[in-house]
Amino acid sequence: MAKNIILLGPPGAGKGTQAKRLEETRGMVQLSTGDMLREAMASGSDMGKRVAAIMDRGELVTDEVVIGLIEEKLGQGTSGGVIFDGFPRTLKQADALGALMARLGRTLDAVIEMQVDDAVLVRRITGRYTCGQCGAVYHDETRPTKVAGTCDVCGSTEMKRRADDTEEALKTRLMEYYKKTSPLIGYYYAKGQLRSVDGLAEVDAVAAAITKVLDKV
Ligand code: ADP
Ligand code: AMP
Repeated sequence: MAKNIILLGPPGAGKGTQAKRLEETRGMVQLSTGDMLREAMASGSDMGKRVAAIMDRGELVTDEVVIGLIEEKLGQGTSGGVIFDGFPRTLKQADALGALMARLGRTLDAVIEMQVDDAVLVRRITGRYTCGQCGAVYHDETRPTKVAGTCDVCGSTEMKRRADDTEEALKTRLMEYYKKTSPLIGYYYAKGQLRSVDGLAEVDAVAAAITKVLDKV
């Protein structure tokens, strides 16, 4: 049966890395509101222009914008299961997601909290780069491409760095996380849906821990 999960954790916890793995290994679909917003920015749409400065500073965009994006995408070819990555990020978004899933007759099977120490996040974020074609996630020191500048997965040579992956913006992003997103840990615990994995472990070990959770729910 297709499973729908949330990956929850601060910026740099490894949500995107694991979401991509789950897409490859289990045919699930990653719904990253951050990716959707960056696509809107790149397309030059009105919404993209409105959110650009907010994102560059590391603040959250309005709930209405991201809830609208998720509503739009959830209907499109996601029957193999969904990985919510970077959504929900506020209690209002979490309530809206619950209502939306109920309306669509779908279940949220687990909320997987990726536990990390804040001390590793600066290094993870400032060393991050991704493939511009397939979105595979790399790191300068810990996870470089096998051939410099060439994606291991799709062979593209278009590598990208994010405008908000700076030490300065990370401070704001972390503060936003603690003020607005971390309450979701208690919210989903109270609903009996929270599962936690050690996000400090090696990528393969984190993937194995997530698989274990998925096989149980
Ligand atoms: P998030 O989506 O939660 O912001 P990413 O998946 O983009 O995080 O990971 C942030 C950075 O940390 C990337 O450069 C990635 O290669 C690296 N990374 C991800 N998981 C691990 C891990 N388990 N150990 C070491 N580095 C990791
Ligand atoms: P991410 O790619 O998840 O790190 O998100 C990058 C940026 O996009 C965040 O710092 C926010 O500005 C914005 N963003 C992404 N998802 C959300 C969300 N669910 N709610 C509000 N803002 C978001």
